[in-house]
Amino acid sequence: MDLTKLDLQNELNFARQLMAGCARITRSVQDQHIVSQSKSDRSPVTIADYAVQAYVAQAIRAHFPADTLVGEESSSSLLQDQDLLSGVTSQVQALLPQATCQQICEWIDDGKGQPSATSRFWIIDPVDGTKGFLRRMQYVTALALIIDSQVVLAVLGCPNVSLYHYSGGLVYAAVSQGAFWQPFEYPNRRFRIHVSSQTNLKEARLVRSFEDTHTNSGQIESFVQIGNISASPVRMDSQAKYAILAAGQADLLLRLPPDDRPDYRENIWDQAPAYRIILEAGGQMTDALGKPLDFSAGVKLIHNQGIVATNGHLHAQTLNILEKIRA
Ligand code: AMP
Ligand code: MG
Repeated sequence: MDLTKLDLQNELNFARQLMAGCARITRSVQDQHIVSQSKSDRSPVTIADYAVQAYVAQAIRAHFPADTLVGEESSSSLLQDQDLLSGVTSQVQALLPQATCQQICEWIDDGKGQPSATSRFWIIDPVDGTKGFLRRMQYVTALALIIDSQVVLAVLGCPNVSLYHYSGGLVYAAVSQGAFWQPFEYPNRRFRIHVSSQTNLKEARLVRSFEDTHTNSGQIESFVQIGNISASPVRMDSQAKYAILAAGQADLLLRLPPDDRPDYRENIWDQAPAYRIILEAGGQMTDALGKPLDFSAGVKLIHNQGIVATNGHLHAQTLNILEKIRA
């Protein structure tokens, strides 16, 4: 398929409006100081995760009923907790007053769709960086549309990212159309964003996960030493890291499988939205071995290990150093 011939204007406008609505939900949950409970895998989950997924799913049902949705959450644990369910319901009702508990659970479960190499599907990470959300640091809502295994558009709602003197906004991109920043406060203003022009690794600004367990801190330290990089890596939760890289505020991003879990494979919703944004901003994104990312293999990127995203200029050098570290 010739991606450059796709007319995505409808989808892009829809996705931008939707992600702006989702930011209203996440900010409202934070303003009301709603805290987390635990999922069985012990990652924190909040009212915001469920409310955002429900809101996104009902919008996709209404506007693109033939499309599949792949989402991180399902309603099973929500149904076992009445307090949580009523919290989610009141957040969704703030935007959709007629919504019932039952409808909300059905919407959430729309997200059980599976990626497929031939279908058209949306991916939602309702709150990416939940730990950052709970710490009131960086988190995003991340949406992408995949057609024939290609990420054709992506929108990150970034309530705590500041760019061009505006705090909070959308970073979005569609294939061959570039990447943009649109402040929440001024939806008619948009700024084209580009990766940096840094070619000197020693001067590079590296971003990595805030959480030690999400990456390989030892290998990142070795990378900093071998590359003779003077600045300490910036630690940040969520795909906000990629938004900042796309806007030229960082030069490279490493996400490496931890030593104790070399088989860790990335979730599609943690990488697909970022991927289109990095490419359209002029950067490069592969796995840590330099392999192209394969978004057709299911909810996990089973054919890829780790992630390297750079401004492009530093990509080959970064992969070379990582190869030495692995040797
Ligand atoms: P980040 O905020 O960039 O560190 O990544 C957040 C994402 O990492 C979450 O959305 C999870 O899908 C994923 N994640 C959760 N636990 C782990 C883990 N132990 N190792 C790697 N990634 C994880
Ligand atoms: Mg995530």
